[in-house]
Amino acid sequence: MKQLSGIAASNGIAIAKAFKLAVPDLSFEQRKIENPSDEISRLHDAINTSKTELEKIKEHARKTLGDEHAEIFSAHLLVLSDPELINPMTDKIESEKVNAEVALDAVAQTFIQMFESMDNEYMRERAADIKDVTKRIMAHLLNVTFPNPALIDEEVIVIADDLTPSDTAQLNKQFVKGFTTNIGGRTSHSAIMARSLEIPAVVGTKTITAEVNEGDMIIVDGMDGTVIINPTSDEISQYTSKQEQFEQQKQEWAKLKDEPTVSSDGVHVELAANIGTPDDIEGVINNGGEGVGLYRTEFLYMGKNELPTEDEQYESYKSVLEQMGDKPVVVRTLDIGGDKELPYLDLPEEMNPFLGYRAIRLCLDRDDIFRTQLRALLRASVYGNLKIMFPMIATLDEFRQAKALLLEEKDKLVQEGTKVNDDIEIGIMVEIPSTAVIARQFAKEVDFFSIGTNDLIQYTMAADRMNEQVSYLYQPYHPAILNLVNNVIEAAHAEGKWAGMCGEMAGDSIAIPILLGLGLDEFSMSATSILPARTQIKQLSKEELASYKDQLLSMSTADEVEAFIREKTNQ
Ligand code: PEP
Ligand code: MG
Repeated sequence: MKQLSGIAASNGIAIAKAFKLAVPDLSFEQRKIENPSDEISRLHDAINTSKTELEKIKEHARKTLGDEHAEIFSAHLLVLSDPELINPMTDKIESEKVNAEVALDAVAQTFIQMFESMDNEYMRERAADIKDVTKRIMAHLLNVTFPNPALIDEEVIVIADDLTPSDTAQLNKQFVKGFTTNIGGRTSHSAIMARSLEIPAVVGTKTITAEVNEGDMIIVDGMDGTVIINPTSDEISQYTSKQEQFEQQKQEWAKLKDEPTVSSDGVHVELAANIGTPDDIEGVINNGGEGVGLYRTEFLYMGKNELPTEDEQYESYKSVLEQMGDKPVVVRTLDIGGDKELPYLDLPEEMNPFLGYRAIRLCLDRDDIFRTQLRALLRASVYGNLKIMFPMIATLDEFRQAKALLLEEKDKLVQEGTKVNDDIEIGIMVEIPSTAVIARQFAKEVDFFSIGTNDLIQYTMAADRMNEQVSYLYQPYHPAILNLVNNVIEAAHAEGKWAGMCGEMAGDSIAIPILLGLGLDEFSMSATSILPARTQIKQLSKEELASYKDQLLSMSTADEVEAFIREKTNQ
């Protein structure tokens, strides 16, 4: 038995065998071959095995994750059947008597370079497909396992250095019981996805991939961040009962599903959910969400080879709005960059991606992409209670420009005779300290604020949210953060606007009493945190908590704040 600790990223206990999602070593040697036709059939075998595998993955992804996720594999299959790519490989084996690995690599590299240097974005995207497919064929030639998360069909715990959001999007909840990674923090997107999929997860263990062998038995405790490798039978029974207790607790929480969120002194606050795709709405409804406080639309743009069309986006937004009925749905416009990449946009690598060309900065620059999204949102607006917010707003000018584009697209649609809802609230995320500091000035122009503490904390504390070595600086209760949050709430209320929070802090049991006391109107969190939060808020008096405000805001450390709240709320 060996125990590791990491960052508790998604609640629940998972006990299953390890499945290592590692990129295999694909290095090879150059050999002179005697018999080219044998070598060519070895290449064809590897291609055919890859084809069968991709067909299976595609079918699997379509069934479990929907057409959108399956599409990427169709593109890969097309590459595998392209004679323009395959024939030069067999020619090379024949004429130069080199082994199949050399021919595959050389021809693939030529095509990749050719496509990458083209002006046409569509053609550049083909380079990414060829790269992926080549790796798969190479793995078969070398007889090494190529991991396919979408193909997992037995109960496992996925072990990886990190999971990209598109890796996570391929995980099938039926079989993937949990995951654990070397890197990442509570607010990295793999962690956020785990919570929306309701899969227990521990991230940032630093060494899990080195410590675990394929097939080892693993326990993941997503509540306290523990991972146990090859547990004893005592540990298995101990964790099995912890798992049962958690399930029972969930049933208790479920009793509050259809109740409003009211504090013990009768004040209503809204508990909303953060979602990534229309499929998440089922979880929001099952967990008693009173709305969607953050729809992260970037997942529509990820895990594929090209930008989503206006119609594709429209269908997704419409589906979310219709499923939520008259409940509010806050859609955030595209927030790409940071740890969320879009390979097909071919953006240059940056030294500090979290401080770089991302979110609204990119959208205002590439207004073709932005306008398409705005049109899709406006068209969908008639199907529910839509609110739109812009991410990473640093200046009023950015907000004004984004709003102007939205209104321009609205006018165009109206002129084209398309119906658009006239009461769409337009707000911003407060994620950048400068915006939190002058929230008063913003409050005059925006309809609402949603505080994104995942980024607000990283920028205020100057601590990369992806770097577990500085994760101790992710301090939501730090008095600097509380003062910024308070400033935003006061500014909103002074102008008769509302203030919400959609960062992870909003679902944190120590932060909830503080935020209730500061007067936060809307708390948006992972769907699975809603019922525990409702249970907690029912026992809290807003009036009492508000009376601690000045004391809390003048404290010196996060520890002091935490100790105070624990004592006052018996935690
Ligand atoms: C945030 O920054 O708090 C937020 C909700 O946005 P994201 O986590 O998607 O960056
Ligand atoms: Mg953010």
